Amino acid sequence: MTFDIVTELRDVVDELTNPFQSREPRHTWDANRHRIKLPDHVVTLPGLVTQVGDIVWPTGRRDGDFHVRPVPGSRPPGDPQASACYMDIHIGVTRWHLMLGLVARDTIESSIRQLLGRILSEDRDTQMALLDDLRSWRHRCEIVTGLATPDPQLQVPCPVEGCGQRTLRINVAKKTARCTSCRARWAEQEDEWTGNIGVLARWIQDWQAHSRGAADSRREAERERKNGRSAA
Ligand SMILES: [Zn+2]
Repeated sequence: MTFDIVTELRDVVDELTNPFQSREPRHTWDANRHRIKLPDHVVTLPGLVTQVGDIVWPTGRRDGDFHVRPVPGSRPPGDPQASACYMDIHIGVTRWHLMLGLVARDTIESSIRQLLGRILSEDRDTQMALLDDLRSWRHRCEIVTGLATPDPQLQVPCPVEGCGQRTLRINVAKKTARCTSCRARWAEQEDEWTGNIGVLARWIQDWQAHSRGAADSRREAERERKNGRSAA
């Protein structure tokens, strides 16, 4: 399976900014208990960033559609996690706009789509850096909107040179891991940006064994110290 950055960039931007349809199959039973299929229940949901914005500004946003009711100035937004996510995305998009020499559009969704148009003429490393940001925005939106649960965090330092933060997160279902500090990634399928998950697993095992060993020898030293004192 080859990884195509441009396709992935388009997909993530779509998820963040375009409305999508959620389709749920429905059925019922007739008098003879035969299952009868009903038309699917189709709901159109706004893009992820729009959903987060709706949580932050339940009475309507200030950008874009100026016909919506303004947010009362005296009431702070009610959901800090959603607000932080929404603000971080705005900050991230602004940073990219400055870097690429773009002027922000009137809505955040349109500004994100604008990035996609511009990034295609950049080199692959820059495209990959944007993809990293887009993916992390998507993940945060999914958590805020309840579509995903946060990945468990490991209390093991990140093996990346110069990082060492205890911010490794593991996605057990996908068999992937990432560090939320340095943005390193690991997966079964490695490529030029993604490390091998097996190598990370061995690092974690070694680290745990090492720290268990260190804890044992600390306990041992403490025991000897006490024994030495009682013998004296
Ligand atoms: Zn790291």
